[in-house]
Amino acid sequence: MPPRTAVFFHAHPDDEALLTAGTMAMLAAEGHRVVLVVATAGERGLAEMEPGEELGQTRLKELYESAALLGCARVECLDYGDSGLSPKGGVAEERPDNAFIDADTEEAAGRLAAILREENADLLSIYDPAGGYGHPDHVQVHRVGRRAAELAGTEIVLEATVDRDPLLRLLRLAGRVYRFPPEFDVRTFESAYSPGEAITHRVNVRRYIRQKRAAMRAHASQATGGDSDRTLAVLLKVPGPLYRLVFGTEWYVRRDLPPGTRLRHPLDRRPR
Ligand SMILES: [Zn+2]
Repeated sequence: MPPRTAVFFHAHPDDEALLTAGTMAMLAAEGHRVVLVVATAGERGLAEMEPGEELGQTRLKELYESAALLGCARVECLDYGDSGLSPKGGVAEERPDNAFIDADTEEAAGRLAAILREENADLLSIYDPAGGYGHPDHVQVHRVGRRAAELAGTEIVLEATVDRDPLLRLLRLAGRVYRFPPEFDVRTFESAYSPGEAITHRVNVRRYIRQKRAAMRAHASQATGGDSDRTLAVLLKVPGPLYRLVFGTEWYVRRDLPPGTRLRHPLDRRPR
């Protein structure tokens, strides 16, 4: 396969480590050019330090470290404000002036499209329309990413997601032996991410699991805050073999392929 260029568009630093790190490391190891673009510096993330500019700087540093571990050739931040989340999980009422969620789709898409053209990108990775679990900035990544690919004429658009079916089975099973906190409602996952039947790409990334774990670890500010219940902190404690099982696959939906298509490599056009 001749070298191609893949651009991975994410909302905040650490999203790349959780969702697409294995695919990025795999493509880079195969000799393709991998570019990482984030919309925001994630300056309203959870950490020991106060949200703000300083946290944004720390999180960008962590992003560069993660990108280097994964073999990225270029990293860009579009410098929108992190829109944050309301305590209930919806759109935060108090937002910075340049919050990504308030950005004009055409304007933001134009900026991403400029990078896609400059890179002559063959592939753009975005999120599913639900934005995975529904963070408003993630929904915006879907909208802006779709439009940017249209503007730049990028051939392959993949929506990074999670196969919701095994996730739901696992959560229901866990619910029998473990009492979830009252605010944790398994039903919310019934509309998160994507159903198995919609998924077109199942990418086996087990060979790159060490790099994926190292990329997660690079985002230390999101794993070492006072609250040990943080997603990233919990995930990093998962023992090796289980980690490989849970994180050994990455899932994508390519909407211009017929339903039921099953591919194993992001650049594949037909099953091999
Ligand atoms: Zn995010």
